[in-house]
Amino acid sequence: MSVVAAAEPATVREVVAEVLDPEVPVLTIDDLGILRDVTVDEHGRVEVTITPTYSGCPAMDAISADVTRALADKGFDDVAVRTVLSPAWTTDWMSDAGKQKLLDYGVAPPQPRSDTSVMVALSLRCPQCGSPETHELSRFGSTACKSLWVCESCLEPFDHFKAL
Ligand SMILES: [Zn+2]
Repeated sequence: MSVVAAAEPATVREVVAEVLDPEVPVLTIDDLGILRDVTVDEHGRVEVTITPTYSGCPAMDAISADVTRALADKGFDDVAVRTVLSPAWTTDWMSDAGKQKLLDYGVAPPQPRSDTSVMVALSLRCPQCGSPETHELSRFGSTACKSLWVCESCLEPFDHFKAL
């Protein structure tokens, strides 16, 4: 009988779940919903499975490095970060806590995809003042995964994390 590895999968997952997304540094990769699985085998080897967001957010190398570093800090040196492209990530995987953090950060969170239509896009609320009087300035905001909007009430521009 082999000795059970010291690494508890639940603990390892907690370490990985704390890693922040490089594109949206208020969200963890768990909030974003891109952290799919964390396993620890009998040799203590950690395998982290991530489904990247769409190609407009080329953050995978940074996420992979951050996950590896976070685990190394806790003594897990044998780490593999695997990316799985199917099923494709959608903004529906973002947690409600994540959406609230986005709003607090001043970014309008994505709507559920079932609601995503031209009509709904017109009713995006300003994350600063809550006014529905907003309009899109540009399809692309600070990154390709966000569009740039402006509020007609408080005149503040804001990013919208596009639904996908
Ligand atoms: Zn406003």
